[in-house]
Formats: sequence, structure tokens, C-alpha cells
Amino acid sequence: MKSFLIVVCHKCGGFLLAKAGQKIRTCPYCGVTVFLEKAKKVASASDANEASIILRKLKKDAVLKQKSAKLQ
Ligand SMILES: [Zn+2]
Repeated sequence: MKSFLIVVCHKCGGFLLAKAGQKIRTCPYCGVTVFLEKAKKVASASDANEASIILRKLKKDAVLKQKSAKLQ
């Protein structure tokens, strides 16, 4: 069971880390309220450490490619 999700902010396109079961998150980049059920999920992880590694990779890829990778 993956307990962390990485979703994309619908407003600014930033990557957010959320715990599974969480319903809303505030985007740390633009401050908008993100409803996790509606947000685009790009990855999931088993623990916070794995999640932060994935998040770092996603941000790096986003800078390089300027497009979102769909993993699901
Ligand atoms: Zn945002």
C-alpha cells in the first residue's frame, strides 16, 4: 500500500506531496487549495523518503522537459 501521493497543482503546475487519505492540500507555490481527488496524480510512494526522491526527480525532469510525465 502506497501511503504518499504526488499530485500536480491545477493552477501553477507545481508538484505537491500528500499523504494517502488526505483530501485537501494547500499548494506551497501558489497557495491555492488543491482537492486531491480531482488533482492529477503523477506518482505514489511507500514512505516519505521515497516520496521526496521521486519529487526531486519530477522537478528536475519538469525543468528539463517542461512537460508533465504521466506515470499512471
Ligand atoms: Zn500551485
